[in-house]
Amino acid sequence: MTTIRLQNTKTRKREDFIPIDPKNVRMYVCGPTVYDRAHIGNARPVIVFDVLYRLLRHVYGADHVTYVRNFTDVDDKINARAAESGRTIQEITDETTQWYLDDMRAVGAMDPDEMPRATQYIPQMVTMIEDLIAKGFAYPDGAGHVLFSVNSYPKYGALSGRSTDDMIAGARVEIADNKRDPMDFVLWKPSDADQPGWDSPWGRGRPGWHIECSAMAKDLLGDTFDIHGGGNDLMFPHHENEIAQSCCASGHAEDGEGFANYWLHNEMLQVEGKKMSKSLGNFFTVRDLLDQGVPGEVIRFVFLQTHYRKPMDWTAEKATAAKRELYRWREHLTGVAPSLPHQSIVDAIADDINTSQAMYELRVRFLNWMQSLQSDRLVSQKEEAEFLASAQLLGLLTDERAEWFVNDFDFAWHIDKFFKLRDQAKEIKDYSKVDAFKSALLEAGVEVRMSKTGVELDAGPDFDASKLEGLL
Ligand code: AMP
Ligand code: ZN
Repeated sequence: MTTIRLQNTKTRKREDFIPIDPKNVRMYVCGPTVYDRAHIGNARPVIVFDVLYRLLRHVYGADHVTYVRNFTDVDDKINARAAESGRTIQEITDETTQWYLDDMRAVGAMDPDEMPRATQYIPQMVTMIEDLIAKGFAYPDGAGHVLFSVNSYPKYGALSGRSTDDMIAGARVEIADNKRDPMDFVLWKPSDADQPGWDSPWGRGRPGWHIECSAMAKDLLGDTFDIHGGGNDLMFPHHENEIAQSCCASGHAEDGEGFANYWLHNEMLQVEGKKMSKSLGNFFTVRDLLDQGVPGEVIRFVFLQTHYRKPMDWTAEKATAAKRELYRWREHLTGVAPSLPHQSIVDAIADDINTSQAMYELRVRFLNWMQSLQSDRLVSQKEEAEFLASAQLLGLLTDERAEWFVNDFDFAWHIDKFFKLRDQAKEIKDYSKVDAFKSALLEAGVEVRMSKTGVELDAGPDFDASKLEGLL
């Protein structure tokens, strides 16, 4: 069996992955707060952990992996969005959740096995908070808040390797009268009449962000599970707080064991050296790119070329090159069913999700397949089947008749015809057919540009090949 090795933030080591139960390998990844479209940075953890999910399913069997990714649908940003737009919270969270699913499916991400919404787990959160209070790790302030007492958990800061001073200085820790220690964080807070709230032993209120993940992970995966993932911007305070809550609730306050065994963090997608984020305003959404005609598969291809622990930039040049390469791959597919992925691709992904190496190996497979076209048909079909399965392990070529490709292929075919027609017209000196074809191309959404090298034709985002049917 393939040995998977993962860089574990918890130990700062690359370790062999040994699941607690190989019959049920369990992974939790922090999902989005649903108040707006996902920006393309948000797609990075989704793609990274989707590749890992596919690998785990390959190694342990599709029925032996449970992947949970949550939706945070209670949050002050959502309340603010509702207030400013005059819409209900439910409308906003329902709409944004659907957008997120559509956009992430467009970049080839499989749906996780479970996609819990925080608002459906309030009773579990209340129970966990009560438990933490009973065990002396949390305290109510008497005014509707419950706070986690960071001093009660000696291992606090172990994941991110920070000292308490660093943590206070590095994060915007609110110093408040109701806190015993400035580091203490909110598990529960009171809600006004116009804020979403649930009845609780501390009055009507709503949960803090961190307790959500602890309660949902416990409910769906148990006190201890295998992998916990997310972007490295979540390491502190969010993941530290998840660990503190979960370990204290499950009787691991002293050793900090339990909860997740392997912690994985992806690096940030950047724009000119800065993290892409909503608060910095330097973002564009996955939907923006899709609407500009960049296929989701191309977005994924670009992401896979950088290792998940390295920062990366999105550039239009990378997208153009990716599309060209994907086009070349798709052009050769003959409809042979996938077999099993080549071991070199499995090994690359198993080596701490080294997708850039996997992409290199995939290109080697493609060249092998191209070479085999000159030999026996059975040999080339075998190469094709293996290439396809390998690409699919990375979540590429999963949809064998991708719309973007069919469209581009039609486009290329018609353009080829157009130039042939023009050459003929030159000979017989009758341009009427060419002119008719040219207007039909424009009508079908082809963009015409004049450049130094002559006329450039491009399938615009609205190119519709069906409008050219019957013309030739
Ligand atoms: P948020 O909605 O900001 O909590 O983010 C949802 C997920 O996207 C988390 O796992 C974040 O770590 C991740 N994320 C946010 N911004 C970026 C970025 N620029 N690059 C990579 N991942 C990001
Ligand atoms: Zn979380």
